[in-house]
Amino acid sequence: MSEKTILVWFRNDLRIHDNEILLEAIRKADKVLPVYCFDPYYFHHTSSGASKTGNFRARFLLEAVADLRKNLQGYGAELIIRTGNPAEILPQLAEQYQVSEVYHHREVAYEETEISEQVETALWKLKLNLKHFIGHTLYHKEDLPFPIKDIPDSFAVFKKKVERDSNVRPCVATPEQIIVPEITDAGELPTLQQLGLDEPIDDPRATNYFQGGETAALVQLHQYFSQSEQAVKPKGSKGGTNNSSKLSPWLSVGCISPRQVYWEIFKHSGDSFAQNASMLKLELLWRDYFRFMFKKHGQKFIKAKNEESDEADIAVNELEFNKWAHGDTGVPFVDACMHELNATGYICNHCRQIVASYLVHDLKVNWTLGAVYFEEKLIDYSPASNWGNWAFIAGVNDAKESKYAIAAMQPKDADSDFVTTWQYSTIDEAGDLVGA
Ligand code: FAD
Repeated sequence: MSEKTILVWFRNDLRIHDNEILLEAIRKADKVLPVYCFDPYYFHHTSSGASKTGNFRARFLLEAVADLRKNLQGYGAELIIRTGNPAEILPQLAEQYQVSEVYHHREVAYEETEISEQVETALWKLKLNLKHFIGHTLYHKEDLPFPIKDIPDSFAVFKKKVERDSNVRPCVATPEQIIVPEITDAGELPTLQQLGLDEPIDDPRATNYFQGGETAALVQLHQYFSQSEQAVKPKGSKGGTNNSSKLSPWLSVGCISPRQVYWEIFKHSGDSFAQNASMLKLELLWRDYFRFMFKKHGQKFIKAKNEESDEADIAVNELEFNKWAHGDTGVPFVDACMHELNATGYICNHCRQIVASYLVHDLKVNWTLGAVYFEEKLIDYSPASNWGNWAFIAGVNDAKESKYAIAAMQPKDADSDFVTTWQYSTIDEAGDLVGA
């Protein structure tokens, strides 16, 4: 009997631990073929010159894929890396390596599901099945106490019912061995330049450096739980909550699973860290909520109100938007947040809420411009979390209540040091702060 090979299509699950598609493929096949595609779609430039993926996130992604390759090599395996359309590349590889099935984790947002549909159609032409797994959420879809169509739109109700009636599954086992076919052309990691991007400049004011990859994610997870609250506090961080885990970039591309974070929380829920641990659990539930809302409502969840805009409105919008984006509104806290975002790719949740609310409610700019801007800039961009939060703040989705009370969006007294740090937009080559 001929050997069975399953192609494992890594997307936003760039890890070996708690990775069901990898484990299942190892169990069901004699050999697995791990593949990652850099899809040019995610790196195209819009007519305004913005990139769909900014350079901080792109660098993080390159590091994450390189780390996955290194970790697979540690098993004597290999990761095939290609740059191109997965709907063309995956069928080619499937033929070349005589693959019998392709596994991937199902996504929820429109663009991501569209891409997997194209892959599915292309594979069907070869009579190959694309098998979908559910693995991006803390609670498995099948363990929810309601079908997707009946998920409560209110977060409070969702939370209450899920916590009462559902359980988080244990993590799946870490593979003991990974056997791959003989791979002669594993492919090179593209450079940022090949993806059409410049190397990002690391701003010395940044309080976090996010290194892509599962290895760094596990270090961050264990540091978060092992350090005292004081040590967890990002040094010099004045913009909002200090006890956040800073795990979002890794969670977004799946270098770590929310389940793995949850079970780590569980281990610490009895110690002095209990309050932080329960906050972290709550935030992971918000993450699930936005993903399930996308699954339930599709694009409708973020559908903007049908506002008629005339040309004059659009011109004002553009002017106000550009001031906001460059941190030039004249409101010190908003400008400081935007300077930090532009210089690092990251701002905390408190800052995100304030700048989003300011754009939408004070400047009255179309919220989708802000969401697109965040999509480019954020190092932790994730479609459901970004578009869901923006729509929430703009009040355009089907959810019944806002997470964000306006009062909570006001800068706090402790934010003044933060404003001082980030009052300038950039640093010139001599290291001087410029662009007040
Ligand atoms: P923690 O407080 O430690 O929370 C743990 C994890 O829970 C986070 O890593 C994240 O995965 C999840 N989480 C926390 N808060 C939220 C939330 N409100 N919604 C969804 N998930 C949450 N988060 C993203 O991961 N990607 C985005 O693209 C994104 N865009 C946002 C846009 C706006 C306008 C706003 C207001 C929030 C957005 N968030 C987004 C949510 C939140 O700001 C970040 O997840 C959080 O700041 C990450 O820091 P942390 O890892 O320390 O979070």
